[in-house]
Amino acid sequence: MKHNTKNYDYLIVGAGPFGAIFAHEAASRGKRSLIIERRSHIAGNMYTHKENGINVHDYGAHIFHTDNKVVWDYINQFTEFNGYINQVVANYKGDLYNLPFNMNTFYQMWGVKTPAEAQAKIAEQREAAGISGTPKNLEEQAISLIGTDIYEKLIKGYTEKQWGRKATELPSFIIRRLPTRFIYDNNYFNHRYQGVPVDGYTAIFDKMLDSDLIDVQLDTDFFADKEAYLSEFPRIVYTGMIDQFFDYKFGELEYRSVRFESETLPTDNAQGNSVINYTDAETPFTRVMEWRHFDQKGDDDVTILTREYPQDWDRTKEAYYPVNDHKNSELFRQYKHEADQVDNVIMGGRLGNYQYYDMDMVFHAALVAVEKEFGE
Ligand code: UDP
Repeated sequence: MKHNTKNYDYLIVGAGPFGAIFAHEAASRGKRSLIIERRSHIAGNMYTHKENGINVHDYGAHIFHTDNKVVWDYINQFTEFNGYINQVVANYKGDLYNLPFNMNTFYQMWGVKTPAEAQAKIAEQREAAGISGTPKNLEEQAISLIGTDIYEKLIKGYTEKQWGRKATELPSFIIRRLPTRFIYDNNYFNHRYQGVPVDGYTAIFDKMLDSDLIDVQLDTDFFADKEAYLSEFPRIVYTGMIDQFFDYKFGELEYRSVRFESETLPTDNAQGNSVINYTDAETPFTRVMEWRHFDQKGDDDVTILTREYPQDWDRTKEAYYPVNDHKNSELFRQYKHEADQVDNVIMGGRLGNYQYYDMDMVFHAALVAVEKEFGE
């Protein structure tokens, strides 16, 4: 079958943020793209749909946050943001704590009221655990940052069910995603710009892709006809899994997956917060989202709750998280080396680069790829 029927300049595999930004920027430079997308919708894991006046994030909570003004200005061309600030509550066996780790958490955990008292408590627990020097894994990093009590109650159970691995086998950077601060401030992020788009995320992609120079084919699997695509298109932007692109020739990278269960209830406020984490090891889900609180609105007397269950990944499931442990990082390096030799293919996105990217990092990477491609 012939695919490049319109003399496209680019084939873009995947309609997530990397692919959509690339297509949009190529179009603004007069270049024509065909986007093929395996799923039946655009926007990748940023996809949202509206139900009862509430934007539901189909692939889990997406809060846009960044320190990068270029990225912030860029996304603001396509949407307005509400003033949402993420403030997560943790439920450990019925006791509630504020996240991220801050003076509220330390007060709730230990009754300490000053930064000096909190720091002394953490230092005492770090020493009792015998932790010093550079942390070798997530457990050591966590205890070194906030002590054993918080590690045991708010981190260990959540982390081990989230990743399906022992905290001693996970890289320390994962826990540094969460701020630790000695002020009474429950903002989950330290970034200067934060929010959720007022019309949901899908509307951003509708706008980005609204061009005569961009065609989108949904329900189309690149791997059903890979060789033909590769030979027909002069340049390809690939945002799928890097190991699959190379037919798993060095072995399979590991990913972690999640699944979601939603329910609609006849109330306008079921849990009183947008996200509640369940940090014990026994509860099978990690967190419960109440979507109307992200929007700060919704129809009267309707709320939608979604429970997030971590699960093992296999080829029949969506790959959500790369597992950046030593073994997988080494394997990725081999694929990356291979990718660098293929000069008509640009790889990007969380799966193409096997990185635990936040949305703003994907935006930044896509804009860098655009500059490089167009020699700017
Ligand atoms: N984490 C934790 N307890 C929590 C929330 C997060 O131990 O209540 C740890 C866990 O290891 C998780 C990591 O912090 O994988 C990063 O959390 P984040 O909320 O950034 O994860 P994401 O939203 O990307 O799934």
